[in-house]
Amino acid sequence: LAASAKKPHYNITTDVTYPPFEFQKQNGSYTGIDVEIIRAIAKKENFSMTLKPISFNSGAQMVLSGQMDGIIAGMSITPERKQVYDFGTPYYKTGVVWAVAKKAKITKLSQLRGKTVALKTGTASADYAKSIQNKYGFKISYFNDSNTMYNDVAVGNSAAAFEDLPVMKYAIKNGLQLKIPNQKVANAGWYGFAVKKGKNQALLKAFDRGFAALKKDGSYDKIIKKYLGESQ
Ligand code: GLN
Repeated sequence: LAASAKKPHYNITTDVTYPPFEFQKQNGSYTGIDVEIIRAIAKKENFSMTLKPISFNSGAQMVLSGQMDGIIAGMSITPERKQVYDFGTPYYKTGVVWAVAKKAKITKLSQLRGKTVALKTGTASADYAKSIQNKYGFKISYFNDSNTMYNDVAVGNSAAAFEDLPVMKYAIKNGLQLKIPNQKVANAGWYGFAVKKGKNQALLKAFDRGFAALKKDGSYDKIIKKYLGESQ
């Protein structure tokens, strides 16, 4: 009726596979921390949404071109991105680590000299790896999604991959045949929901209000516990 006709509708993009933040269930539907957070906020804030899983780099670009209203994709809040996006309340701690095949004898970045490193296009971890590429002398191979990137390391094409700690840890815990030689994170920071800078401000405000409510009523902790068995 009148009320529902006025309910705003948003197109929100997420990554195609970034567990535990977003991933496909057996039945094809999407779940994960990001998915549950944004759906719970939509419900609390009374907006409808279409969630569109798109490779991270493309989804992030589509927010800037106006084809998508917002993005929740384990997206790191960085100074560069703050020039072109507005971020909501930071919702999860992150940082960059590197991983190698479980059987590899690599323990130091200096051992990557002359070898190929797998990176995911358009990510904060790719930017970090590029910033140390000259120092350590590795080559780079780019991938559009995390699974393909991990597999390239697992099968031995690439010697290492750079990825966010919570995502890498989760994948390894769930059977991925990689290991993290050094748990120290680079570029520690936070994940944030984003809209194009200056656009979709009603959506951004709804996110922050809704997120505060999820923190307050325990839903946020429940979601985190469900996927990670811990609260932060
Ligand atoms: N956190 C990383 C970034 O923002 C990677 C995000 C992702 O791959 N979904 O660049």
